[in-house]
Amino acid sequence: MAINRRDFLKVSAGSGLLLASNTSPAVAAPKPLPPEAVGILYDATLCIGCKSCMVNCKKFNSMPGGALYREGGDIPYEHITPEEIYDAPTELSDKTLNIIKAYKSESADGSDADMERYSYIKNHCLHCIDPACASVCPVGALIKDPNDGVVSYDQDKCIGCRYCQIACPFGIPKFEWQETSPKIVKCQLCHHRYKEGNYSACCEYCPTGASIFGKVADLREEAKRRLTLSPGSKYEFPVQTVDSGNRQFKEVGNYLEQIYGMTEAGGTQYLFMSGVPFDKLGFNPNITDQAYPDLTWGYIKKVPVLIVALLIAGAASHVITRRDNLSDSK
Ligand code: SF4
Ligand code: SF4
Ligand code: SF4
Repeated sequence: MAINRRDFLKVSAGSGLLLASNTSPAVAAPKPLPPEAVGILYDATLCIGCKSCMVNCKKFNSMPGGALYREGGDIPYEHITPEEIYDAPTELSDKTLNIIKAYKSESADGSDADMERYSYIKNHCLHCIDPACASVCPVGALIKDPNDGVVSYDQDKCIGCRYCQIACPFGIPKFEWQETSPKIVKCQLCHHRYKEGNYSACCEYCPTGASIFGKVADLREEAKRRLTLSPGSKYEFPVQTVDSGNRQFKEVGNYLEQIYGMTEAGGTQYLFMSGVPFDKLGFNPNITDQAYPDLTWGYIKKVPVLIVALLIAGAASHVITRRDNLSDSK
């Protein structure tokens, strides 16, 4: 049966195809953290679901978002159209780099011990230590910074093959389908803000310390420290950054004995803590500790013809689109 590029991308959307494959290549040793690796620690027990992180993510990354953006931006509220009032995003998209979701008990009376209450979860690029997206990009448009480990994107190199979308085990990269010169969109850990001494906007504007920025080594230590605390005791939680003097004295939640991202997918620079099992917060339980470039290439080597076809189609569509745009602008 013939399969075209569109069918292939549909069938293998996200990482389902990779996860479902029985490919079991030799497990390589996990890669070490880059020397100055930075990241985020998200503690769901501190999150109040205010979405300040989403609003400011949009604001500082120039992302449109209807009412949600305007409420946090400089545009007067009365200029919001009726349609935009209902424009709060519910999923990651080419316009939304960061999403807060709420999960609640499946049982109406809340009798599940671990699901007694709502929990929030914040989702965006995890900045994998060994990123599958970068490993499959044929033109090096996705790059992991060798020093701070941030995985960023170069639009000028991208040929639009969207192989990064298939490779990412967390379904993060999004594509600008409606644009004439589309690009891949994902969180870049606010890399553009570091030069001025700033850091991730989602952490800077998180009022509770649920999202904190810092060196991954320090974030790991902070997370491990929290696991030693007794539920119900009081602790001074850092707000905005892991080494911040801004601290809030609060009750310690009932943590799971897991820091998600320490080992998953070979380790990530975005770490999560929660009182609710991660599979109940929308995390894919099939993700193992193996770095995904190993799995990805185990699959890719079986479909060389398809890969070549994808690359040629992507390059052709990119060249045609660029040519059309250039002629339009003359
Ligand atoms: S989460 Fe996905 S997009 Fe982000 S670095 Fe990892 S593989 Fe790449
Ligand atoms: S690090 Fe920046 S781009 Fe990424 S989710 Fe936070 S605010 Fe958005
Ligand atoms: S992470 Fe912080 S800013 Fe975002 S919803 Fe939770 S409490 Fe609000």
